[in-house]
Amino acid sequence: MVVSYNLLQSPAIVGAGIGGASSAFFLNALLENEGQIDVFERSDIGGRLATTVINGQEYETGGSIIHPRNRYLVNFTRDLGLRERERPDGRLGIFDGETMVFDGSSHTLMMVAQLVWHYGWDVFNIQNYVKDILKDFSKIYEHQENGYSFTTVEKLLSSMNPSFLDKMKHSTYEEFKEHGYSNSFIEQLVRGGLRSNYGQNDDIQAFVGAVSMAGVEPGLWSVHGGNKLIPQKLLHNTETVHIIKSDIKQITLQSDGIYSLTDSSDNSVNYDYVIIATPLNDDISKIEFQNFPSSMYSFKGNFHRTVATFVTGFPNASRFGYADVQEFPEEMFTSCKDLFFNSIGRQSPVDYVTVDHEKYMSSRPVYKVFSRGPLSPENINELFTQIDDITIVDWAGAYPSYSSNDGDLPPFQLHKGMFYVNAIESAASAMETLAIGGRNTALLLFNQFSGRSTHIDPDLTGTQTSSKTEL
Ligand SMILES: Cc1cc2nc3c(=O)[nH]c(=O)nc-3n(C[C@H](O)[C@H](O)[C@H](O)COP(=O)(O)OP(=O)(O)OC[C@H]3O[C@@H](n4cnc5c(N)ncnc54)[C@H](O)[C@@H]3O)c2cc1C
Repeated sequence: MVVSYNLLQSPAIVGAGIGGASSAFFLNALLENEGQIDVFERSDIGGRLATTVINGQEYETGGSIIHPRNRYLVNFTRDLGLRERERPDGRLGIFDGETMVFDGSSHTLMMVAQLVWHYGWDVFNIQNYVKDILKDFSKIYEHQENGYSFTTVEKLLSSMNPSFLDKMKHSTYEEFKEHGYSNSFIEQLVRGGLRSNYGQNDDIQAFVGAVSMAGVEPGLWSVHGGNKLIPQKLLHNTETVHIIKSDIKQITLQSDGIYSLTDSSDNSVNYDYVIIATPLNDDISKIEFQNFPSSMYSFKGNFHRTVATFVTGFPNASRFGYADVQEFPEEMFTSCKDLFFNSIGRQSPVDYVTVDHEKYMSSRPVYKVFSRGPLSPENINELFTQIDDITIVDWAGAYPSYSSNDGDLPPFQLHKGMFYVNAIESAASAMETLAIGGRNTALLLFNQFSGRSTHIDPDLTGTQTSSKTEL
């Protein structure tokens, strides 16, 4: 369907992370490269996709791991002329606060044997569980390809599988218990993964728990040069995108239904359509809404703080019961709920290539420690020795604080002509889910503008989709 762009004033997008960039990219495609899309960004393009430089090399500080079945991220990477970064193999260990309760080998077969020895059939069952989730999740790609859009997170999740909504209402622990998994599997592997990926324990809602467990599949990757290159290139390669460096502090609904965006220097610009692509939760957002009806969704949920502390030095092997530092695993999860750190992982730079593996192994190692708050000097000295450098990146708003009764979810449509990409974070915060949220809001705007009401909140129960699995 061809829509005359002239009838649509230039839409505004607030936020140039992966959500805003994806929204701009898909909206531009729907508008067939016509007109202009204004993207407001107060800081660096990429948002929570960012890097830091340590000893002359760049490391991912925020979103780093991409799943091989993330269709949009795979396609963006390929179409933007980027490539996947190789990742060094590594061993997984799980620390319960006292001892290492799991200590994996670097040989894949040996590691599988160790996992089976520790966790029995749960190791195979989880593969099938993840496959089933991915199969349902992949339906969203077909829906979006067909132009369908959803006004709420509930409707979007239900379009993939109505049971996804139920997962939002019980805890990850309950989910895996119901599916027959052992306590040790849940409290060590599932909780360990959640603490590393979301800084939270297995009492959080089960949909995000399922997304976290997708990491058990092989082939996880990152973008060579840094994941932030995806939003940067998406925006810079889209000719109709106009990036405006500006901190939006207020959005006012005028009596004629037009939105006025005001920045921190008190400049205002008017738009018919606005897409908000940054979290609006009370504790982290400073955007004020003026003259909106009191019925508009209010953003009460909190965001979780995660501090990434990069330490150049050697792990304190004896603290974890190792005789030699070489025995320390490359990835350490933790299973103790109130431990002062969530995970420790050896980092490879964003331009790592396997041929340089020897150089990487012989260089001074860089570890990333995730924790809920800043580590004290005593904490750091407990975990590391021979420290050369410490770099701290404090994500005050890393991802939502998930609970298991996130009943009242934020909508994708905040008001007529105003849309919210980050509503999807209430289900699961990940680069791919935000790309999906970005496309959903672009489709919503387009469908409403062009009168395609049959493509908004369609009832897709019983529709056939291909069985390709993606997440
Ligand atoms: C430590 C950490 C580790 C993570 N690990 C992974 C991982 O391994 N894999 C994965 O898939 N995901 C991971 N995530 C989650 C992932 O990074 C996020 O879900 C995703 O990047 C969010 O993208 P976004 O565009 O919605 O938001 P953001 O990236 O936060 O972008 C929002 C943008 O809006 C801008 N902005 C905000 N307010 C205003 C304003 N008033 N005016 C103008 N601009 C504004 C901000 O500056 C920012 O650039 C991780 C996140 C963190 C913090």
